[in-house]
Amino acid sequence: MNPKSALESAFHHFGCTRWIRHRHARSLRILMYHRFHGALDNFREQCAHIARCYVPVSLNQVARARAEGSPFPANALAITVDDGYYDFARVFPIFREFGLPVTLFAVTGFLDRELWLWPDETNLLFAETPLNSVEIAGHLYNLATPHTRIQSRDEVNQRLIEMTNRDRLQTLRNLPRLLHVVIPDTPPADSLPVSWDQLRELSGDGLDVGSHTRTHPILARMDASELDSEIAASKQRLEDVLDRPVTNFCYPNGTAADFSPDVIQAVQRAGFETAVSTEPGLNSEPADLFSLHRIGVEPELRLTAFARRIAGFRAKVT
Ligand SMILES: [Zn+2]
Repeated sequence: MNPKSALESAFHHFGCTRWIRHRHARSLRILMYHRFHGALDNFREQCAHIARCYVPVSLNQVARARAEGSPFPANALAITVDDGYYDFARVFPIFREFGLPVTLFAVTGFLDRELWLWPDETNLLFAETPLNSVEIAGHLYNLATPHTRIQSRDEVNQRLIEMTNRDRLQTLRNLPRLLHVVIPDTPPADSLPVSWDQLRELSGDGLDVGSHTRTHPILARMDASELDSEIAASKQRLEDVLDRPVTNFCYPNGTAADFSPDVIQAVQRAGFETAVSTEPGLNSEPADLFSLHRIGVEPELRLTAFARRIAGFRAKVT
């Protein structure tokens, strides 16, 4: 055991995690997963821990409790998974085995195979470009080493997030030419979506599916008149395919800067009952159900670190 994990174990065993969990018992925790690539041993332990120590709730139960004026149950915890990659199908049976409700936030254009998720595009472009440097929109980027490529990619991603939606789409269209890379129509195997058939089957099996827009844009960078085409349209598409109400929404990128009052209004107008952000933290009563905070987790996390993080160690409570 390395010194860091020894320290984590001690922290866990001395009851600190339990104490923090108890201190935040009245707050709603919402976990946020994305991908499930690797071995799932730690993930199984995470699910067992949640089932043992928390009261798993669905986002629909959260909305219902609010409508009825009831508080969150003590130690309530909801689980969400963003984007809708194929590997979600690997873990849904494990969530089920432990009786854990889960909401999968799907990007409908991605599931329709109309687009890649754009960070997967920039990943591929910066990994495969034959160039040693490139100028994009007046900025020079170093591509000489794997490390500078990652740095350059992250800087470009950040600039794309900050642009208007129209400029972002235009820049993404230009990037393959600038970087001398051809983007294939279909994403690589590891970046594929779950299929509609699978999603229909899982949804019949108890999975809650929420909307994560049609194309994963930064909604605050769109004109208000364009918002319905991302928010209401993705809800409609999911309801048409799954034949059940879709009432939970997830803001792409999801920091406070990525959704404006106009965006929140469009989400409410479309008929959603909750919306989650990626702002880190726990939600205490009376939380705003249209900007719920979450705790980011990865399936590879060791149990002690996972238990401490979801208990709310150093978490912001809003
Ligand atoms: Zn996303």
